[in-house]
Amino acid sequence: MKELSRIASAVHASTTLAVDSLAKKMKADGLDVVGFGTGEPDFDTPDNIKEAGIRAIREGKTKYTPAAGLIPLRQAIADRLKADCGLEYDYTQIVVASGAKHNVFIALMTLLNPGDEVIIPAPYWVTYSEAVAMAGGVPVIVSCGEEQDFKMTAAQLEAAVTDKSKLIIINNPSNPTGMLYDEAELRALCEVCVKHDLYIISDEIYYSLVYDGRPFVSIASLSEEIKERTILINGVSKSYAMTGWRIGYAAAAPNIAKIMANYLSHSTSAPSTISQYAAIEALTGSQESVIAMKNVFEERRNYIVERMNAIDGVSCKMPQGAFYVMMNMSGLIGRTLGGRLIQDGDDFAMAFLEKGLVAVVPCSGFGAKNYVRWTYAASMESIKEGLDRLEKFLKD
Ligand code: PMP
Repeated sequence: MKELSRIASAVHASTTLAVDSLAKKMKADGLDVVGFGTGEPDFDTPDNIKEAGIRAIREGKTKYTPAAGLIPLRQAIADRLKADCGLEYDYTQIVVASGAKHNVFIALMTLLNPGDEVIIPAPYWVTYSEAVAMAGGVPVIVSCGEEQDFKMTAAQLEAAVTDKSKLIIINNPSNPTGMLYDEAELRALCEVCVKHDLYIISDEIYYSLVYDGRPFVSIASLSEEIKERTILINGVSKSYAMTGWRIGYAAAAPNIAKIMANYLSHSTSAPSTISQYAAIEALTGSQESVIAMKNVFEERRNYIVERMNAIDGVSCKMPQGAFYVMMNMSGLIGRTLGGRLIQDGDDFAMAFLEKGLVAVVPCSGFGAKNYVRWTYAASMESIKEGLDRLEKFLKD
């Protein structure tokens, strides 16, 4: 038989899969596993949003929409970007897709030619490097350690630029680090982008989850020149607890938005019409639930960070946004835990799951092998139980 696609065959299975599939199997076998793996809010979609979806079905709003999404939805997105980020976009610059992940993919398909380099600060959301490769590009990973809050500096960016560099991907606030770039840091990165004519994909999906009263600054709001070269990615999954509805969006310069829409029209077409109506309600209805969820996440973050840092052998930085915390487990390297010699985060995650009955995500796939990621999109009760089990696991 002839060779299968080299690009598709090179896509890696998710590195989190081993722990995740074992956790699922253990649960199915009746074991009491506490999970901190999933990247989605544990809250239910707010009722007003659910009702809007139900109403759409009842009213027969069940047909195709334009490929880039319903005009009222694209207008609602433009209005929200104006209200929340001070950004002015015409609705024609907004492209709705089946989740922000799909927006990232079509943004890369729109920008990249074979061999173009894409600079990605690590730790990074694992999809970025895979999607770059799927789009024919070459990921260039820039390691950003804990001592620099896991954030890329302008000097690091400058050092990574070659004549093949095409764009950078920024995730602000970040999954998995929870760190937030402030305005000065963004401006410094933008200077390098302008100097070397780089595009910017800015994934701002966690923008509504920023803590301690810090302001969120969208990179596209820094100047017209930056906005022109930025494809802003966002969606309703995290802010409105709508992960399963599959609505993400991009905002970009008109020529870029047009190509993205054309690409969509021949791949998925528009996302589910019903979900689009629900998303209109999410973006235009009361925003109280967004704030309520953020406050709960902030309380859980404070608890998990304080307790984690009081446990010998592990530590974490205080995340400024999103709902993840990176636990540094390098203090455990060389120990034998749960019958396993611990050499990195992968070993620790496997041992902690098998013997401690807690599922966390090893960060090797995110470019940070001595870390595991906990999400605090889990109930306070689970968080307490997970940390109790961590204490016990490290003592045994
Ligand atoms: N970007 C980041 C950084 C994410 O963590 C996620 C979800 N894990 C997404 C995008 C994808 O979101 P969506 O559900 O809209 O595809």
